[in-house]
Amino acid sequence: AYNHILEIHKKHLSPVATAFFQKPLLLHQGHMEWLFDSEGNRYLDFFSGIVTVGVGHCHPKVNAAAQKQLSRLWHTSSVFFHPPMHTYAEQLSALLPEPLKVIFLVNSGSEANDLAMQMARAHSNNTDIISFRGAYHGCSPYTLGMTNVMAYKTGLSSGMGCRSTMCPDVFRGPWGGSYCRDSPAQTIRKCSCVPDCCQAKEQYIEQFKDTLNTSVAKSVAGFFAEPIQGVNGIVQYPKGFLKEAFKLVRERGGVCIADEVQTGFGRLGSHFWGFQTHDVMPDIVTMAKGIGNGFPMAAVVTTPEIARSLAKRLLHFNTFGGNPLACAIGSAVLEVIEEEKLQENCQEVGTYMLLKLAKLRDEFDIVGDVRGKGLMIGIEMVQDKMSRQPLPPQEVSQIHEDCKNMGLIVGRGGIFSQTFRIAPPMCITKPEVDFAVEVFRSALIQHME
Ligand code: PMP
Repeated sequence: AYNHILEIHKKHLSPVATAFFQKPLLLHQGHMEWLFDSEGNRYLDFFSGIVTVGVGHCHPKVNAAAQKQLSRLWHTSSVFFHPPMHTYAEQLSALLPEPLKVIFLVNSGSEANDLAMQMARAHSNNTDIISFRGAYHGCSPYTLGMTNVMAYKTGLSSGMGCRSTMCPDVFRGPWGGSYCRDSPAQTIRKCSCVPDCCQAKEQYIEQFKDTLNTSVAKSVAGFFAEPIQGVNGIVQYPKGFLKEAFKLVRERGGVCIADEVQTGFGRLGSHFWGFQTHDVMPDIVTMAKGIGNGFPMAAVVTTPEIARSLAKRLLHFNTFGGNPLACAIGSAVLEVIEEEKLQENCQEVGTYMLLKLAKLRDEFDIVGDVRGKGLMIGIEMVQDKMSRQPLPPQEVSQIHEDCKNMGLIVGRGGIFSQTFRIAPPMCITKPEVDFAVEVFRSALIQHME
């Protein structure tokens, strides 16, 4: 059966998406933080379907809410009213500070960021958009202009230039630095104490000002930032940097957008939203992934004023956004996060895991850096701490594969794919962290032999 699936995959599924493992996993079932393959082997899921299954696979309460709504009403399109949408809008808006109270329901992170870009332009009357190097904001033609992970666009744009030919009004701010010495971060980062670097913040601000000044009209429509960069390998900004960047953007008439697709819904532990960890107030917040625990669903939340600016300019519509099933699931997800105190669990278990991983970093020369917040953690692999050259991709792949073979699934990210990304369902426990860290240690020992 396994070979037959591989054959079908090769023949009928697009080769553009690559499989995660050398020997792809055939997943059959999921329960909370565990996944099961077709042979009954179980895996601790430390990547939750790319930072998505926040409350756990097939969570009983979410399943029950979905089943109840399935037998009542699936779809009406967004031109009709239905109570699940209104209940959800009230619940979600209660989780955001004033004046972020107007909600647009859409279907994916890319779609949410596309809409946020339109809002920023409609409200500011400007066109230029700024995003960071290393940012990931989606794969639609609009958002691809803001995404700066080159593998997604080398065949389409002019390459490493500052501006993307796909979306010529997008400019790039400073690079979200990584630990590796080969990283372009080294062009701006002189010392190694990121994220609380004494020099880094000033350097970032200078680079950010340069970016603002290269903008053709010298007036910006919108500035997009992930509170912690996810796809780029859990990259954090120098403390206080985002706050100053927001101020500079607003001085030029632009609006600030927090992309909470990975960082929202309590994952960072100390706060429900990533922007709160930077003590900033965005004008627009985009969210996806964890919002529906795997069910396709996303949202853009903004101020009444910006919502009116968009409505004055254009009609905006999508068929599936805010459908009854998605809203019922979204409500159940919010209730579970609160009832099970999952944000608090992220804080406690995340801090515990960071400490354990820091010990591994001290133990193994190839573990260069361990960083993150709550249950969004990165482990950056290097050839050695002295050279800080990235560990070659095939060696990282082997460690990744070995972890999987010992029952642990983790993600990968970073410019050289050198960083392991850890973002499990938010319900994981300390004994599961102990298990995961032991598996990772064994994979590292195997690698050294
Ligand atoms: N923003 C961020 C921060 C993301 O990580 C992603 C997906 N990796 C997106 C936007 C795009 O979301 P989607 O894949 O749902 O379009």
